[in-house]
Amino acid sequence: MKAFLKRLGYAAAFSAAFGISQAENTPQRLADFRRVVVADDAPPVAQFAAKELAEYAGRVTGQTLEVVPLSRYQPDAAGLSFFVGEAAGEKIIGRKLGPWKTEEWLLQTVPQGLVLAGDDQPGRALSVFVAAGSQLAAYTLLDETLGVKWFWPGAFGEHVPANPGAVLPVFQTRRVPEFMIRNYGVGYPGKYHTEAFNEEVERWARRTRQGWVPKAVFGHSWYGAFGFRDKEKTAELVKTHPEWFALVNGKRQPPQMCTTNPEVIEYMINYVLADKKNAISTISPSDGGSFCECERCRALDVPGLLGYDGKTPQLSDRVFTYANEIARRVHEKDPDKGVGMFAYTFYSQPPVRIEKMEPNLYLSFVHQAMANVDPQVQEEWKTRALEWKKISPHLVMREGWGNHYLLDLPFPHEEEILTAFSFGSECGFMAAYGEGSKAFSTQAPNTWAVTRMMWDPKQDTTNLMRDFYHAAYGPAADAVQAYFGTFRDALKANWPNRRFVLPARGMAYVNIINSWDILYPPAVLDEAEKHLKEAAALAPAGEYADRVAFHRFGFEYTRTLVDLLRCYHDLANRGVDLDTFVNFEKLPYDTTKEKELLRRAYELGEKRETLLLEHRDWAALDEGLYAFTNDKGLRQWHAAVKKLLRIDTPTRLTSATLAAKK
Ligand SMILES: [Zn+2]
Repeated sequence: MKAFLKRLGYAAAFSAAFGISQAENTPQRLADFRRVVVADDAPPVAQFAAKELAEYAGRVTGQTLEVVPLSRYQPDAAGLSFFVGEAAGEKIIGRKLGPWKTEEWLLQTVPQGLVLAGDDQPGRALSVFVAAGSQLAAYTLLDETLGVKWFWPGAFGEHVPANPGAVLPVFQTRRVPEFMIRNYGVGYPGKYHTEAFNEEVERWARRTRQGWVPKAVFGHSWYGAFGFRDKEKTAELVKTHPEWFALVNGKRQPPQMCTTNPEVIEYMINYVLADKKNAISTISPSDGGSFCECERCRALDVPGLLGYDGKTPQLSDRVFTYANEIARRVHEKDPDKGVGMFAYTFYSQPPVRIEKMEPNLYLSFVHQAMANVDPQVQEEWKTRALEWKKISPHLVMREGWGNHYLLDLPFPHEEEILTAFSFGSECGFMAAYGEGSKAFSTQAPNTWAVTRMMWDPKQDTTNLMRDFYHAAYGPAADAVQAYFGTFRDALKANWPNRRFVLPARGMAYVNIINSWDILYPPAVLDEAEKHLKEAAALAPAGEYADRVAFHRFGFEYTRTLVDLLRCYHDLANRGVDLDTFVNFEKLPYDTTKEKELLRRAYELGEKRETLLLEHRDWAALDEGLYAFTNDKGLRQWHAAVKKLLRIDTPTRLTSATLAAKK
């Protein structure tokens, strides 16, 4: 109630400023709304906003709201109306609402009801690349005022509270999103998922107010810029312009370039200027190492300063000298053009000798907040963000929120996510995107934290996770929180004890793959299961019980996979060659034991495939993560086990088998 009154007060002050009389604007009862009015020729994004508003606001009160074209709207019709989109809004307010800033949106109370409008571009209604201000207004109303929540795409993923007495406060709100890019990648490419699921992902992205409207790219650029995909052309280029390429062990070679070569810089300036598709074009180096060792490049490195591996020189000063030079000269020719760069691996730290980054340079700050479960890593990250803030106006978060490192297992790090966004926005971060997972059955709380913070990174986070558990699990909220909390506590306690193949404090893939049985020993799994059983007993039939069952499915996968990874670890310890699994203990060869382990690994590996195929339309597990590795011949643990057992059946998960099953 307090928040509601505060909101009214806030709105009243605005009303006075807008010269709107108080008598006209009083809180409105949702039940008095009869229809949603949208212009006959409104862009698809606004039409969709109208449809969604009618559907969900109708479900809140239990009444049917009709979508009425503006041409058929009768001003004397009974009851209140929602007016969606610029044309309907202008008609009712009686003045022009534009021009709009990118993705700007408006909620404005009028005597006849409520106007929801904004920057609506033509294009597909469900594409996050198309500005949809009307949708941002509609979903803000549904979510923040009416309590409709979207936890994940598809089945069991939405909560619509029944509230026939709902009252809408007076709105005088006109805003742009805090972050210009808000994008959570739901796992592997759509070709691995069912069409039905892909459609649900698009809807969920809209409903959680994600967007990637300014055309901006930050990733590795040289493959595209210099045409490395064409092997012959590349070989020719190395022959004709050897000095463009990185000098490595006395040899000029791709995929890194010599970033102090004036012709390389000139080439990249022209590449950026020619890219008419993007407002921000990328000039980032290629992935991996093998950077240039020529004298001119090395002269820009700060003597004695080492990169994150403690061996390779830190390359920030040379790499950002290159980036700054390009950005400055691009700006001279095209003042509207932005230049995108990764801050990554050997150039993740701010440069020492460069005082300011060019204002048209956008730095995509590659980090994984999950590494911040180690407090020291979190402190280092904060320090790095603050240092970057001093010299760069435009910082972009590029995160891994549940990528392949996790194999779809739980890794609750909501606290670190909240901190990353809160602290990041204080440091001037202005966009966020990253790789997530389709595995909401094991990772839903993380994604909740991400989507809420992407939309409003400056919000008070005190109750942000409690709100999730209450909305999603009702009377079982505490038990489900205890379920995820069990993994969380185990993670915090056991993270320092993981097996170190590489001496890295952060997220080193090989360390994590070898450590799941340490992170989640059987007692932890038993404890988690106990809480899930409590949750099942507390949740009444319906949406809450369905969601608990959804996580039950995720738990079955978790137990299966942790057992399976332990088997792989035990096999590796006995000398069986399983890519990425390290023989730590060098146990003596034992035929009987090995046979037994192989048999168990085979059964669990088959069960893993069965689980991945069981509910493909659910946002439960990512069958794409596993199928992708089979397509690429990566992590072929199950294939290796089958080979040793002389079992000659192919995997059930590849892009071909998944597509055939649609
Ligand atoms: Zn060089």
